[in-house]
Amino acid sequence: MGKKVFVIDLSICNGCYTCQFACKDEHCGNDWSPIAKSQPEIGQFWMKLTEEVCGTVPKVKVAYRPHMCMHCDNAACMSACPVDDAIYKREDGLVIINSDKCTGCRNCLDACPYDAIYFNEDSNLAQKCTGCAHLLDNGWTEPRCVDACPTLALKFMDEADAKDLIADSQVWKPELKDKVKPRVYYQNLPGKFIAGTLYDPEEEEVIIGAVATLTNNDGTALTLETDSYGDFWFEKLEQGIFDLTLKSNGKVKSFTGLDTTEKDLNLGDIPLV
Ligand code: SF4
Ligand code: SF4
Repeated sequence: MGKKVFVIDLSICNGCYTCQFACKDEHCGNDWSPIAKSQPEIGQFWMKLTEEVCGTVPKVKVAYRPHMCMHCDNAACMSACPVDDAIYKREDGLVIINSDKCTGCRNCLDACPYDAIYFNEDSNLAQKCTGCAHLLDNGWTEPRCVDACPTLALKFMDEADAKDLIADSQVWKPELKDKVKPRVYYQNLPGKFIAGTLYDPEEEEVIIGAVATLTNNDGTALTLETDSYGDFWFEKLEQGIFDLTLKSNGKVKSFTGLDTTEKDLNLGDIPLV
């Protein structure tokens, strides 16, 4: 059996929640032990879609991200578990909590850096995404969430076949990549944006074709022109500090220290005087 990876293309996830529903349908009320006992109806999302609203009205974008256990190759949950083989890694790379061996000590919940493990109070078990290993062992080639995704945003592939996709991907929390070695890869993770609308207060009109130049810490500059609504959007930016200059007909407006570390920036309506 080849080792598998998940590859998730966020540019084609439309936020339909089908993956989250499919996971619930597969695992709620169904006992697939020792792969997993039933998932509680509420409170647990072994596949979870998050919506992040970026910017402020009217410069707003919604970013969707399906996430689950990253099936790490150097899994912190496995190291933290005191019971032999209660958490184990399969040949296909999936990390499983054996529902017959878990004692409910919760060590793995504290250890997982992705908060991927839930605690089932009724059955006294740590539980999480299993990659639908019970299906893979019975002829399925992919988990329910992947099978259900209508846009093919989710893929479950042989690692060897996914090399090009992986090269074009990032992991969630890249600072953990070498430490825990996650096996879920994201394509087209949204960067930060800086946006605004430029207008002439004397003419009371937006300014079309003004030159906007954004410069980052190391002096790299991006340039674009305001569109027919006077808008400029610098997208897919790294987190960092930027300076912005807006120029039109000899008039200049400058901003310094624009900080995208925490959030996207909508600079609003900007008068060029
Ligand atoms: Fe996105 Fe596919 Fe999940 Fe729908 S099913 S939310 S398109 S990943
Ligand atoms: Fe374990 Fe968390 Fe990694 Fe999943 S994401 S394998 S639960 S450490």
